[in-house]
Formats: sequence, structure tokens, C-alpha cells
Amino acid sequence: MEGKKTGGKPREISRWESRSIEETKEMLHTGEGGISTEEAGARLASWGENKLPVVKPPSPVVRFLLQFKNVLIYVLLVAAVMTAFMEHWIDSWVILGVVLINAVVGYLQEDRAQKALASIRHLLSLKATVIRGGLRKEVAAETLVPGDLVLLKAGDKVPADLRLMETTNFEVEEASLTGESEPVLKSREPVAPETVLAERFSMAFTGTTVRTGNAKGFVVATGSGTELGKINTMLSETASVETPLIRKINSFGRALSAVIVGVSGILFLYGYFFGGFSLRQILLAVIGLAVAAIPEGLPSIITITLAIGVQKMARRNAIIRHLPSVETLGSVTVICSDKTGTLTRNEMTATAIHTVAGTYRLEGERLPAHLLEQPVIRRLLESAYLCNDSHVERGGDGRWELQGDPTEGAMKRMAAIAGLDRLESQRIASIPFDSEFKYMATLQDMATLHAVEGEKHIFANGAPERILQLCGWEMVHAGKEPLREDFWKREIHAGAVEGQRMIACACRKVEPGKISLSHQDLQGDMVMLGLVGMRDQPRPEAVEAIKVAREAGIRVKMITGDHVVTAGVIGKDMGIGDGRRVVSGAELESMDDEALKKVAEECDIFARTSPEHKLRLVKALQENGEVCAMTGDGVNDAPALKKADIGVAMGIKGTEVTKDAAAMVLADDNFASIVSAVEEGRTIYDNLRKTLLFILPTNGAEAFVIMAAIVGGMTLPVTPVQILWVNMVTAVTLGIAMSFEPMEPGTMHRPPRDPKASILGRHFAYRILFVSLVVGGYAVFAFLEMNGNGATLEVARTTAVNTLVMGELFYLYNCRKIHAHAWGKGFFGNRIAFLNSGILLLLQLAYVYAPPMNRWFGSTPLGLGEWFHPVACGILIFGAVEIEKAVLARV
Ligand code: ADP
Ligand code: MG
Repeated sequence: MEGKKTGGKPREISRWESRSIEETKEMLHTGEGGISTEEAGARLASWGENKLPVVKPPSPVVRFLLQFKNVLIYVLLVAAVMTAFMEHWIDSWVILGVVLINAVVGYLQEDRAQKALASIRHLLSLKATVIRGGLRKEVAAETLVPGDLVLLKAGDKVPADLRLMETTNFEVEEASLTGESEPVLKSREPVAPETVLAERFSMAFTGTTVRTGNAKGFVVATGSGTELGKINTMLSETASVETPLIRKINSFGRALSAVIVGVSGILFLYGYFFGGFSLRQILLAVIGLAVAAIPEGLPSIITITLAIGVQKMARRNAIIRHLPSVETLGSVTVICSDKTGTLTRNEMTATAIHTVAGTYRLEGERLPAHLLEQPVIRRLLESAYLCNDSHVERGGDGRWELQGDPTEGAMKRMAAIAGLDRLESQRIASIPFDSEFKYMATLQDMATLHAVEGEKHIFANGAPERILQLCGWEMVHAGKEPLREDFWKREIHAGAVEGQRMIACACRKVEPGKISLSHQDLQGDMVMLGLVGMRDQPRPEAVEAIKVAREAGIRVKMITGDHVVTAGVIGKDMGIGDGRRVVSGAELESMDDEALKKVAEECDIFARTSPEHKLRLVKALQENGEVCAMTGDGVNDAPALKKADIGVAMGIKGTEVTKDAAAMVLADDNFASIVSAVEEGRTIYDNLRKTLLFILPTNGAEAFVIMAAIVGGMTLPVTPVQILWVNMVTAVTLGIAMSFEPMEPGTMHRPPRDPKASILGRHFAYRILFVSLVVGGYAVFAFLEMNGNGATLEVARTTAVNTLVMGELFYLYNCRKIHAHAWGKGFFGNRIAFLNSGILLLLQLAYVYAPPMNRWFGSTPLGLGEWFHPVACGILIFGAVEIEKAVLARV
């Protein structure tokens, strides 16, 4: 068995850039139909996957050892050594045991978080369009092999090194490879052998991105055999889990640890010189304090809370690419969304045709048969069919299968149903659709079709206003007459008020020698053929989501390239805007930044916009203090997505370039998924707060117990190893429970969170202090009371430990809701909380009643009556916090 390969280059000498297409095909044993699927499988087995080598993540051993890089662990190791010197062997072993368990738990939690995040990244793996055995297919880029024929379009990432065999306006950005920031125009012509990388115009390289145009090319190298692979590029597979919030919490933890070490020092001096403690006693006490107060489990619990939340979002079709965005999502105030495909289904059906001779309705996309004889309609259908990059095919069940853009698909289907599906005409050149220009155009050789040698036509389909600007004529019967602009504007308006998406078709006969096509060629002399109206239904979930967003204090704005009137009608249908005010791209253009800021705030629908308007709108909204999510799919949307607080790319129809610029990718292109993500974002943030709110008082209460003992000069109510027990047992059970807390009712009835507000705030700080005092105070009280009534030290200490644990257990149920009552709706919504509570009780019973535990931790079996204080403490804290919630709800 050979070693595992990751791609490579065919054995023959390379220099593909200088080879002719014929030579390339021959050397790679491939052709215009690509290679067969079987051949691709065989080549994959011998060449290996098209993958760059992966950076080795630190080994599990190293990651495990890193768990020991922690202030608390140092404190504990010192404690273990000291207890060993004092020959308290059991204590030393218990401390070491706890250190080990802590490290294992921390390791497992981090590992789980890493795995959760890795599984999300896999959802975003690169796809490539290939032709295999003559058929178009989408395959995972990793399965590409030398000889594969790959199709590329604007916005794609080049998935392997390609020798280009066909290009149209094909420009590639190669900065990642050559450092050149200007896009490079490519062509099929070979260049001199060994030309420098930046000038190999006949090639497209892995890792670069397509700026404009289309191309076809043969894969000549994959994986580490590519130019990118040769410069030793490696992929990193481990995600960093640092977000601003986690960084803040971690640095808070470090600062807290430093304070605790300082306070311990002071208390040590105080206890030794003034408190009447022996050196041994006071050492044990301050070690206990350090152990008690340092929230050592916090970082890994926070990390896992975030990772679990992100995984949950992915299940709801929102894939987070940029982890800090999870926090930002909770504070989003405006969502700017594309219309087509995001708010609507993007399932276009042609419903009407408008020509000089009249408006005709289509039934099931079918034109009345007698119309097909009319030359104008015939030419319009030709334009619809030929000036089109989509593919439709009739499936076995009589339904039409569509590949490509739905708008074009609707046009093609309409023409195909009218009987033009066997239309043959050679395309000589084309300008693909682009939301900047809003039309597409092709140059067609009509020889076969019209049986006239050398007859060539330019066809253009696009937004009616744009096409009108290009036209000087309109087609009437078989001839042409001067364009009646007013007539067409009325027709456009008539379609738009019905909410139709309108496409105009135009054509022009050109001289036989013409072989290229530019925007210039379309200016002024085109002949208007007519309009096609199509309908795109709103997504019902999106309508629902818009309502939810509104209740959650989030404005929804629609930004579309579609007609002003169409946009207004659909907006009104869906509950966006007031149904009257729609601002057009042209109006935006004429505004200065101040005016724009005002309009961006007041108006909710923007139509006939181009991508740069999105960028200006994001900026204006942000200057107004909004936190803005913005969707996009095309290459030109990338800058706006980068600028937005949350850039949202479409997973299905979005380009790779936009996905790269986005913080979040929607697996289903659905607006509703953005609102779900906001919901999850708010929930995750709440859960992070709840985790802090729950964990910090554990440390606070324990610290209070020790400090009270030192200051009061009494025997320690709990020993350091017992504190270790409480921390460990609550951290592994209860601490994690909050990560699974479902959304609180009312989460989406609150306004967005102020992004500047601190995560704890005054209320939480006060609560943490309050709970620390009540639980810690009760533990001291229980200890003293038992001790005073003649119980042994072991019994009193076991009671104190039980008191701390039970206090925590009850308090968990307080924390599950921030404002609402604990027993309200969703009480049973978190199974992990109940399960882990049960585990905690079992562990605590073992602590009290199992002889080995008694030996290790100095605990002792209790009678039923001795459980009174622990339970009472639980009920007390639970009641107190619920009363506090009720009081706060009043004021
Ligand atoms: P949106 O995606 O917001 O609906 P687009 O920029 O895609 O806006 O489209 C703007 C206009 O361009 C549409 O109203 C339509 O008239 C026209 N158009 C859209 N897609 C195509 C296409 N593939 N071919 C020709 N014209 C198109
Ligand atoms: Mg579009």
C-alpha cells in the first residue's frame, strides 16, 4: 500500500501554460466532455485527494499538558507539596487526584468544543462544477483529478490549477498567490514556457478567485502539486475559540486570581501574627481560600457554551464562520436583506408577456398556441432562450429540471414549452448578467436557425429601464419602428404594480464579421422586442420571521435590484415598509452622506440598487449607531458584507467570494434563518451570562466561609480538600448545565442588547454578592450550630459541605431564568440540568456515605436530621432569589 497522497501533477513534464489545448487534452487523456466518472474515481485513487496538507494540531498529550498551565493548578501543586511535607499523605493524594480530574474534564470539554466547531466548518467545504462524461455535475473540490474539465464563473474560488480552454471576459484576482492586487485578464492562448507565475494568462490557479466572466479549463494539478501547494501552504484545521467576550471573561478570571492571591497573602500575615493561628493552620486556610475563590472551571465552561450554541445555530441553517459574531448577533438592530431568493422563494414562473401587439397571460408558463406564429413573439422567445445561461431539462415526471439562475430558468422554460427547446444557434460571445449593469447579452450565429449564411444577432435581456436605454427601435411584425418610450414605461408600470419581476428582451442584427461583444456594442441601436413578467412568491416563513424581528425591536430593510414598484408591492405583502415609500438607487446616488443617514433610518425599501449602494447604506446605518446585518450573494456584495457588523452570505446561490467575506452563511438562503440566528445569538449570550451568574457565587460562598473563619479565628468549617470536592463536583455537573438552557420565553420580545453594556452589570454583581453571602453565611452558621450542639468536627464539616452543595443545586434553578420565575414555561426544557442534578446528588451521597470517600475527604455518614440545614439553605436561597425577581419585576 502506498502512502496517502494529497494530489499531484501528472508525471509528464508540466509547463502547461505553454501547451496548446490539443496537447493538454492528449497528455491528460481527456476531452471536451471531460473524463468519465469511473476514470475520475480511478485517478482519485492514484493521485490522491485535491487537498493541501493539513497543519498538524498539537497532539492530545500536548493539549492535555496545557491544561496544567493555570494559576489554580500552581496553587494546588504547591498545596500538594506542602501537605506532603506535613505528612498529610491523604490530602496530598486527594489534591493531586483532583488536579488530574480537573485537567481531564477541561481537556474533554475543550476537545468537544473543538469537534463541534470543526463539524461546522465541514459544512462549508468547497464545491466545483465539472463536466464528466459530457454531463454537468457539482462535486466536492477535494475529488477533482487531473483531466477534469472545470467550469468557473464570477465569484468562484479556483479549486485546482487549470489550463484554460475557453474564456469570456475572464478576470482572476491572484493576490493570494502573486501579490498582484489588480485582477488579471486570462485567455486560452498559450504563453512562453516558464513565464513568471503572474503572467501565465492561460492558467488559473488554486486559491485565486474569479472576479468577472466565465471559463472552462482542464485540471492539470491538484493538492500539494498546485502552485499554491508548492509554496508549502498548509490548511489549519483547529479553530480559535477566542472571542472578545471570552477574552474579557478570561482576563477577568486572571485579574480575579491575582486579587485572590494578594488577599490570601494579607490574610496569611493577619492570621499568623494577630489571629492566633499556627503556621500549619493558616497555611491550610489560605490555600483553601485560593482554591475556593479562583473560578478555574470558567474558561472551559464558557468555551463549551459557545460551541454548543454555534452547533445549534448550524442545525437551524445558520453557519457561523466568524465566532465573535455569535455575540454580535444578540445586539443586531437592523437586518438588511436581499429580496430575491432570501425573502422570496426564487422560484420564478413567467406569467405574462407584453409586446406592441398586446399583453398575454400565460397559463402554466404556456403561451396561447396561435401567438407563436407572430414574428415579434417568435423573436422574443429566441432571445429568452438563447440569451440565457441556465439549463432546463424535462424530467421523467414531465416537470422541468432547472440548473442555473431561476430568472433565466423561467425564461428558458417558457421558450422551451413554446417549442423552442431544440433551437440551435452557436454562441460567439457573451456578457453574463451582473447586478451592476442589470442585463445580460449574447452574440449568436443564427445561420442554422434562419438558414441565412452569416446572419448574426446580439440579444440582450435585463431590467426594462436599462434595456430601454439601449434601444432606439421597437419590433413591429417583421419590421422595426422608432421606440415609443412612453408606451413601454406604461407597460412596465402595469406589470410592476402586480408585483411582477419584469425582464425586457431586445435584439439587433450585426455584420457577419463580428466576433466579440462589449457593452459599447449595445448602445443606442437595439430593437425592443417586449417584456416578460414573472412571479416569485414570498416565503411564508420569511413573513413570519419579519414579524418576530419587529417584536424583537429589529428593523428589517429590503435592498433589491428589482423595480421600485415591484419592490414596494412585495414589501407591502410581506410587512416591510409602509407600502408607499421606496427609495431608488438613483435617488441614493444623488444624496450626500447626511441626507443618506436620514433616509437609511426612515425608509425600509431600497430598489434598483447596485452593490455599492449596499456599502453606503451599511456605513450610514452604522453612523446612526445601528448594529447591522447585511445579506449578499454576488461578488460585488463582498465589501458591504465585510463592512456590516454581521455579513450574511447565501449558502446555495451565493458565490464563494461572498461566503469568504461573510461572518455567517445561510445553508438554506432563507431570511427566516437570520432571525433564528439572532434568536440563538441572544440565547447564547444569555446562557453565558447565566453561567457566570451561577458559577461565581459558588466561589464567592466558599471564599466567604474561609475568610470568615480566618477573621473570626475559628476552626475551618471546610478544609481545602473539601472545597476542592465542592468545586469539582459542581463544575462537572451543574456548571455545564447552563449551556443547554433553551431560549427563555420573551427573549424575542426584548429590544436588542446594548453592545456597550457590560456582561454582568450592576444587578448581576449585586446578585453574585448576595448569593455568596447567603450560602456562605448559612454554611458557617450550620457549622457553628452543629459544633455548638456537640456534633463532632467531621459531622459539622460534612454538614457545611452539604450546605454549600445544596445551596448551589437550588440556585441553579434560579439562574436558569434571568427575569422570569424559575418554575415558569420551559421548566422541563433542559434535560441536562435535571440529569446532572441527579448525578450531583448521587455523588454527594457517595461523599457522605461511602467509606473510601470518608477516608479521603474526612467526611462522615449523617443521620436524616443532619440534612436539615443543607436543605433549608437550598430552600432559603431559592426563595430569596425568586422574591428578588418578583420585587424587581414590580419596580
Ligand atoms: P434582486 O436579486 O434584488 O432581485 P438583481 O440585481 O438580481 O436584483 O436584478 C435586477 C433586475 O435585473 C431584475 O429586476 C431583472 O429585471 C433583471 N435580471 C435579474 N436577473 C437577470 C438575469 N439573469 N438575466 C437578465 N435579467 C435579469
Ligand atoms: Mg439577483
